[in-house]
Amino acid sequence: MPPNSQPPDPDAAEPGDEPAAPYAKRTLAAQAMGQIDPVTKAVVPPIHVSTTFQRDPDNAYTSGFAYGRADNATVREAESVMAMLEEAEGALLFGSGMAAAAAVFCALEPGDHIIAPRVMYWGLRRWLQQEGPRLQLSVDFVDTETPERLRAAMRPGATKLVWIESPGNPLWTVTDIAASAEIAHAGGARLAVDSTAASPIHTRPLGLGADIVMHSATKVLNGHSDVIAGVLAVRQADAFWERITAIRAGWGAILGPFEAYLLMRSLRTLHLRASAQATGAAVLAERLSGHPLVSGVLYPGLAGHPGHAIAARQMENGFGFMLSIRVTGGEEAAIATAAHVRLWKRATSLGGVESLIEHRASVEGPGTPCPPDLLRLSTGIEDPGDLFDDLDQALRAAHDRAR
Ligand SMILES: *Cc1c(COP(=O)(O)O)cnc(C)c1O
Repeated sequence: MPPNSQPPDPDAAEPGDEPAAPYAKRTLAAQAMGQIDPVTKAVVPPIHVSTTFQRDPDNAYTSGFAYGRADNATVREAESVMAMLEEAEGALLFGSGMAAAAAVFCALEPGDHIIAPRVMYWGLRRWLQQEGPRLQLSVDFVDTETPERLRAAMRPGATKLVWIESPGNPLWTVTDIAASAEIAHAGGARLAVDSTAASPIHTRPLGLGADIVMHSATKVLNGHSDVIAGVLAVRQADAFWERITAIRAGWGAILGPFEAYLLMRSLRTLHLRASAQATGAAVLAERLSGHPLVSGVLYPGLAGHPGHAIAARQMENGFGFMLSIRVTGGEEAAIATAAHVRLWKRATSLGGVESLIEHRASVEGPGTPCPPDLLRLSTGIEDPGDLFDDLDQALRAAHDRAR
């Protein structure tokens, strides 16, 4: 778009509307949907901090806003960018990824059966194990990356939700979203996808048949390790979505306006960051595959990865920023390698512009499918050569120390 032409019509940016068709998503995201403050014409909309809104003399709320626990204009602006990126009928922001996921499960009815992946974000797995029974939900953890296993686990009539995660943390297993949608729908269940590790840049689950997509916006969506947030986006804003909306308002799980502002600021550069991070991860995966002290590299972009063919079909613009390596010498060597990094930061979380390394089995504890020799790597935007050199010296230092 030429620099001085009109921005896209902001009225076309409300969640639920058709996406503004003529522009690429990166164009719309860069301008945060072209939202201009109607009063001052500021190209960066102000942060709406008011918790309450004046009623009209006839007692109505014609602005559509009444109280900040249900809705907020800054939150809505960020939601409109998310809805555009996911081509969703609606998007809702929550105070964390966990709050967003929990809202989906809590919208189910007592007695409902749900299927979740064996390899998934451990915090949500633990939450389902602890809270599922108290909500009277029965949960089966299944290798959803194998469609036959998913099909066999379905209990038609009782299964109301299939939850998948692709690529799945921390082994980066790839689940066929289109096949999962077919199986879920055939059994009368909804399909929800935790797409945190793919981001809207690499995968669009709603286009592949999923009903709901969830992201921890704490990760690459915000990308600067300074906001905790979560998002849900929906293919069809039906009664189930209304129930989720009511749960967010009733439980007070909405994201704060300052966080929503920071998230929208980050979404303007999502394409640049995610592309650079995926390029870096691909370089690292390739170079680490040939490393004598690395016994395995888990990255869906590698031809030898078991999910590569499906990933190549359902991912675009690369294969994401997450990879894991298995270190020769087992758990001790893996922990020692993390101890010797200088450039990588030893920290949990993922998706930020700075690269993070983590011995994942220590975090996940007993019952984890994560092998003890595994290091999880979140690739930032640093020079991939610098990142490789640092891992190389750390692997060698750990190895030398063990000898
Ligand atoms: C971090 C994460 C979550 C939880 O999100 P929070 O924002 O930390 O609550 C859920 N799923 C995946 C894949 C994650 O990485």
